[in-house]
Formats: sequence, C-alpha cells, structure tokens
Amino acid sequence: MSTTTPPKTFHVKSFGCQMNVYDGERMAELLTAQGLTAADARDDADLVVLNTCHIREKATEKVYSDIGRLRREDGSSPLIAVAGCVAQAEGAEIMARAPSVKVVVGPQAYHRLPDMVAEAAAGKRATETDMPAEAKFAALPKRRRSGPTAFLTVQEGCDKFCTYCVVPYTRGAEISRPFTDLVEEAKLLVAGGAREITLLGQNVNAWEGEDDKGRAVGLDGLIRALAADPDLARIRYTTSHPNDMTDGLIAAHGEVDKLMPFLHLPVQAGNDRVLRAMNRSHSVDSYLKVLDRVRATRPDIALSGDFIVGFPGETDAEFEDTLRLVDAVGYAQAFSFKYSARPGTPAATMADHVAAEVMDERLKRLQDALNRDQVAFNRASVGRTCDVLVERRGKLPGQWLGKSPWLQSVHFIGDAQIGDIVRVELVEAGANSLAGTVLPRAA
Ligand code: SAM
Ligand code: SF4
Repeated sequence: MSTTTPPKTFHVKSFGCQMNVYDGERMAELLTAQGLTAADARDDADLVVLNTCHIREKATEKVYSDIGRLRREDGSSPLIAVAGCVAQAEGAEIMARAPSVKVVVGPQAYHRLPDMVAEAAAGKRATETDMPAEAKFAALPKRRRSGPTAFLTVQEGCDKFCTYCVVPYTRGAEISRPFTDLVEEAKLLVAGGAREITLLGQNVNAWEGEDDKGRAVGLDGLIRALAADPDLARIRYTTSHPNDMTDGLIAAHGEVDKLMPFLHLPVQAGNDRVLRAMNRSHSVDSYLKVLDRVRATRPDIALSGDFIVGFPGETDAEFEDTLRLVDAVGYAQAFSFKYSARPGTPAATMADHVAAEVMDERLKRLQDALNRDQVAFNRASVGRTCDVLVERRGKLPGQWLGKSPWLQSVHFIGDAQIGDIVRVELVEAGANSLAGTVLPRAA
C-alpha cells in the first residue's frame, strides 16, 4: 500500500452527453468546495477525473487510451479517478486492467468523490457504484457561478429499455428530482449569471413532480414555473422520448415565450419493424403525428433527432425508409450513429448483425441527407431577425458568438458583452453557423 500527498489541483474531463457535462461541473464544484484548485490542463493536475460515456464502443476505448496518455515522462501518473457510465458498467475490469486508476465512481455516487480521493491518497483503491440518485443531489454543494448558458439535470435514468441501449443499466431506473429543489437550483444558476437554462434528462419529458401547491405537474409545469423568473430569458430541454410528449408540453411550446422553438426528438429509424425490434414503443406514424402537433402550436419550431443505422437485421429497404422519414421531416440538425453492440443489451445477441462496410455506407448517405437539410434550414433563416444570446468572443476584433432561438450558432460584430441578448438580422448562412448584423432595439 503506497500513500501519496493528497491532491491540491484537479482536472475533470467529460466525454459523451450533456448530462455528463452537468455531472462534470458538479464534481468540479464538489472538489473546489474541498479546497482543491481547478487546473486548465490535465498535465498540471494532481487529480484527473475521467468522466466517461459508455453509449458506443469507441467512447470506452477512448477512456483506456486517455488513461495511458496520462502517464508522464518520468513514469509517474496523477491520481486517476474514472467516473461516469464506463465506471458503472466496467468498474471491476478497469481496476484490473489499469493499475494507475485509483478511484472508480458511478454516475449516481460521485458525491462521494472527495472521500474516495482521500482514501486513494492514503493508499487504498476505492470503488463506489451504488445508485441512490437522490442522496447524490442532496449531498452536492449549492451552485454558485454560471456562464450565460447552464445545464440543469432534472431527471435521471430510464425505464424504456430500448434493446440497443445501456442507459437503463448504467444510469438506473427513471427518477425525477423534486420540483422545489429544481426551482431553487435554477434560481442559483440565474443569480450566478445564467440567462438560459437547458433542462436535462435521458428522458427529460418523462419528468414529473408536485409543484409548491402540491399539484401533480409534468415538465411543462416545471417550465412554466421557471419561466416566471424575470431574470431567466430562455429555457430549453433535452432529450425527449416521442411517447412522453404530453398535451401540456406541446401546448407550452405555443404559450411560453421563454421556451425556445427547438425540439430534439430522437426517432432512431424510419421503419416500423426496426422500431419494434428496437423496443422503441412508437411507430413512424405516431412520431410524425407528434411533430405535426408541435408544429401546429409553434410553426417556426426547429427539429432535431437521433438516428442509428445498421441495427441488427436492418435491410436496405428498411434503411431507405429512414431516408424517406428524413426527407419528410426536414431536420434543422441531427445526430446519427452506426449501431454499436453493447454488452448485456438484448440487441447484442440478435441475429443478422450488419456488416461494417454496409453501416459506413448507410451512415454516409444519411449524413449527406441530414447535412443537406441543415444547410437548407440555415439558408432559409437568412433575412430573419432574431435575438442572439451572446456566449463568447469570436476570433475577429469586435466579433461575438452566440445562439439563435433555433440553436444555430450566430456570429456578429458589434458592442456586446457575454450574457447580452442582442437583436440581429441573419444575413449569411453556412452549414454550421450564420452571420448576423446588429439591429437597434425597439425603444
Ligand atoms: N433517451 C434518448 C432517446 O430516447 O433517444 C437518447 C439517449 S442516448 C444517450 C443518445 C443517443 O445515442 C440515442 O438517441 C441513440 O441514437 C444513440 N445510441 C444509444 N445506444 C446506441 C448504440 N448501442 N449504438 C449506437 N447508437 C446508440
Ligand atoms: Fe436509451 Fe431508449 Fe432510454 Fe433513450 S429511451 S435512454 S435510447 S433506453
């Protein structure tokens, strides 16, 4: 058993989804509250936390190569903690395969990180993968500072069990954080500088709770309550399941001005047999009907989605159905992935795995179609006037970068500060960003 000096500096590196980004921020706050100082570069840190993602194969491999890269020229390593979903799913294997890792902590147990780091400094490798999610939130320090945009995890875990997905195993059963805790955390984020809050959950629209008057409310009730804060300008939420788009949430898109006109609604595939094999519990038609209803309440809504190509047994004709769905919807942006067999999920042992070259070709065709629609959406935005929330400086003198209501990146030159909401006319569109010119605010 070899002891080391307790770490004074730390660096958290988060992989994967926005919920991991949120967890990474909370871990940093926790370590800061213990008196450690954040280091910008991992080479300058005594403690490195790799906050991992297990959703696809490459993400796991990246963790192992990152562990290797942390070895310094003199052969030493910082104290390494592996957190997140790979820690949850493969903690024992990591401990066996990577002796330099001293702490393994799952996504529902990271409030214990400081104690575990202390144990590791005292020479004892520590693993914690219990799942009492509410204990974690209660044990975290209060939020203090925020950038102009902030994430707020409102819901964790998933009970849907899509046959390809590890989330129900790594993040556990679906839980909703209590309404009053969320209203309080949102207030602190706004007091710390946030103008926009994105509500997060693996199935964020399954969030449910009781409001301050004891009434049962869904995500729309939470959104309406947060919108009442005059200093909060924008609200977003992600990621949603098509079956949990309630009437109330759809109506909120037409009624709550602060709810931005953007909806990320994963569909995964455009063929009903594939959707059934995925256990998605919605059909192509029911998905399209949800989109129609959202568009009816908010005609300018920008749509986004997630797609998987090459699910086991997916035929060429079934993949063509996915391209047809993309043509029918016209997404403003989307994420698309090759199917990745995840150990322990039902799809991993299904017959007829699709050949790698076929997946490559399907992904390319799908991404070409999605890129075409993204460019078309951006071009169609030219001439619109909109508010841009300023997030950071651009590379050119006087240039600022921010987001349109439709989550497009917009750059403009003018007088502004981070956190300002500036009125611009969109004048030029590229595939990934638009140029704007500043308009005077109406008096
Ligand atoms: N809860 C969300 C939903 O229902 O769509 C998604 C959460 S998951 C973290 C994000 C995306 O990863 C999924 O929408 C899916 O497209 C993709 N994904 C999940 N498992 C995958 C797998 N085994 N292979 C490839 N992509 C996967
Ligand atoms: Fe995974 Fe499906 Fe749950 Fe989304 S709904 S997290 S894809 S199991």
